[in-house]
Amino acid sequence: MNFDDYRGVWVFIEEKNGAVAPVSLELLGAGRALADKRNSELAGLLIGENVKQLAQTAFEYGADKVYVYDDSIYRHYRTETYMRAVLACVEKHKPEILLYGATSTGKDLASAVATDLPTGLTADTTQLDVEADTGLLLASRPAFGGNIMATILCKKYRPQMATVRPKVMKALPREAGRSGEMVDESIPLEEADIRTKVLEIVRSTTQRMRIDEADVIVAGGKGLGGPAGFQLVERLAATLGAAVGASRDVVEAGWIGHHHQVGQTGVTVTPKIYFAIGISGAIQHIVGMQNAGLIIAINKDPAAPIFQSSHYGIVGDALAIVPLLIEAFQNA
Ligand code: FAD
Repeated sequence: MNFDDYRGVWVFIEEKNGAVAPVSLELLGAGRALADKRNSELAGLLIGENVKQLAQTAFEYGADKVYVYDDSIYRHYRTETYMRAVLACVEKHKPEILLYGATSTGKDLASAVATDLPTGLTADTTQLDVEADTGLLLASRPAFGGNIMATILCKKYRPQMATVRPKVMKALPREAGRSGEMVDESIPLEEADIRTKVLEIVRSTTQRMRIDEADVIVAGGKGLGGPAGFQLVERLAATLGAAVGASRDVVEAGWIGHHHQVGQTGVTVTPKIYFAIGISGAIQHIVGMQNAGLIIAINKDPAAPIFQSSHYGIVGDALAIVPLLIEAFQNA
């Protein structure tokens, strides 16, 4: 493999509700820094139907160029169609680095692309840099339950690929009117050649806020005693306009759905404020929320491990304290 053929840092631009997904803006910010260090260009890879206008957003957040596959065949995300577009573009333009958001789409696409290329994939990274002397991508991620940071290098193949967790990188400030080059791309793809069809899209009926996007999360654990006690967490979250989080034991007990689970086998969150109510603070929970800006724990056991990871702690019965907090915030 001739590495000299591979140049540039690319970001897979995810579309969400007609706009560029926040994680893609964050990756453009991180990608810009990497591209500057490599003295190369930053490109976006945009796939969808009627998505061309989103290229301008990518330019304003740091991209020099955007490759666009705009066709009705890409109306809904399907692994097969998107993967074929990415593979074709990689083969044609040869990026040195290719980043995806660690969202359900990004993770699915990146792993599918990695199976078709000789290169590997570093999943769920939280830090990115390039090695000064070799120019290799340094993709770091928590490992062994968050006890170490592992830095993973892809020395033998290109592109170097990574998925990056939402909310850990910073988007650049928007530079209105910044321009770049949009490159129209296409590949011959017929609906008849695609093995998967989208028959129906069933939207979740819950109006609950997503925990990976929330600035404030109120999370509850088994200490709330049961679904009735857990309702207090939901009420406090509603009062604060916050998202509802949960420990794994709560999810396994069926008090709330899996999408709300914070931790090693759930979602990693970085809100500004995280309330941990009736949560013991097991390491598998802590690794998912330890980077929150402010952690406030309520637990009746003063020796509960959660207090070692919190900025503020209240020792007492959550069933008595949370109603007082709700009342106080309602009257604030
Ligand atoms: P408990 O450990 O039962 O703690 C309840 C706490 O509530 C206690 O500290 C208690 O003092 C307190 N309490 C009790 N009554 C009250 C009251 N009235 N008022 C205030 N406080 C009260 N867990 C996760 O959360 N997320 C994960 O992603 C995850 N992944 C895992 C992966 C693996 C491979 C394994 C082995 C485990 C994983 N776990 C995960 C489980 C984890 O180890 C813990 O079992 C779990 O986090 C405990 O949940 P909890 O804190 O709600 O319950």
